[in-house]
Amino acid sequence: METLKFNVNRQIRMLMIGFSIAMMINFFVTLIIQLPYLPVFYICSTVFYAILAKISRLERFLLVYILNLLQTVCQSILSVYVLGDDCGIQMYLFSLAISCNYVRMTKCSPSFCKVFIILSYAFMVFFYILSDEIIDFWLDPLTKIANESEIFFTILNVSCSLTLLALISGTFFYGYQKEYNRLAHRNTLLKLAADKDALTGLHNRRGIDAFVQDQYRQWQRGRSQFTVALADIDNFKTFNDSYGHDAGDTVLKTLSQVLSRSLPDTACIARWGGEEFLFLFSCGVQEAAGELEDIRRLVEDTCIPYEEKLLYVTMTFGVAQAQQGQTIDDVVKAADERLYIGKQRGRNCVVYE
Ligand code: GH3
Ligand code: MG
Ligand code: MG
Repeated sequence: METLKFNVNRQIRMLMIGFSIAMMINFFVTLIIQLPYLPVFYICSTVFYAILAKISRLERFLLVYILNLLQTVCQSILSVYVLGDDCGIQMYLFSLAISCNYVRMTKCSPSFCKVFIILSYAFMVFFYILSDEIIDFWLDPLTKIANESEIFFTILNVSCSLTLLALISGTFFYGYQKEYNRLAHRNTLLKLAADKDALTGLHNRRGIDAFVQDQYRQWQRGRSQFTVALADIDNFKTFNDSYGHDAGDTVLKTLSQVLSRSLPDTACIARWGGEEFLFLFSCGVQEAAGELEDIRRLVEDTCIPYEEKLLYVTMTFGVAQAQQGQTIDDVVKAADERLYIGKQRGRNCVVYE
């Protein structure tokens, strides 16, 4: 909820400041034209909106909105009573149409929000009709101002209310867009984090899955080969028991860098599980086994400094190429079986047939 507020407090405050400025303009205009009641009403409204701007925040949205609506209704009725319906003052009612949607960001239930929005619209339309048609029909306006003043007043009210409408929708959609971009960026980061293994920085199973699926499809279309290798560090349990888990972690990190650096560009690697790695090749099994043999030797020769010691490990590799009718799981299983054979044969080898 905290993140979704996306500056709503600031938006509501800006809206109230906008109303306050509109009221101040109306105050000066009605004062200059010397209309009864209205200058007092507008100066009070200016102060009223300034106070609302001060206290506005999402938690008080319902109160602020209802007060805003009541003020606008009073303003419409009073203005029509004093001046008649031709000055466009009722337009202010519609400038509230969008802002009632902010209720959706409060803690109110969705059904309450729906009812609130529908009632707000009904209220606005009702008072628009009341002030524009009914009051005007019943009462003669107190004042008849000059035509030029009326035109000026109409233009002023229409432009002020439309500006408010633009301000509300503009700030709302600007905030929405900003929040959308922020969440989209965070989603990308989360997805990247979810696809990576935290210890080694390699892809995890989830992360490599898209590559595996894609490569498998390419193979099915006859565009490339689909070869999988599983590699496992030899006697790693004993290693951990002898040197400690932290030393084991250091080995996993260093080996991951060695493995990913020495892979050809067309191949891919992931941490498949504890100390197991999966390689994906777009070439045939012989070629992949050749690459892996180089990697196996490199691993064997890699000296990993840890505290005062220099540590060495070896790895066993099982390689399998997809055969007609095999699924991805079948190929991985075949590679795993060859890895097992490699372990049986004494480890530190690449088994591909
Ligand atoms: P083998 O040569 O047959 O593979 O023997 P092994 O001892 O390596 O095989 P086993 O699967 O029995 O043991 C794997 C060990 O890998 C167990 C666990 O302690 C270690 N391991 C798995 N994940 C991690 C890890 O993230 N960090 C460390 N330090 N050790 C891990
Ligand atoms: Mg293992
Ligand atoms: Mg092992």
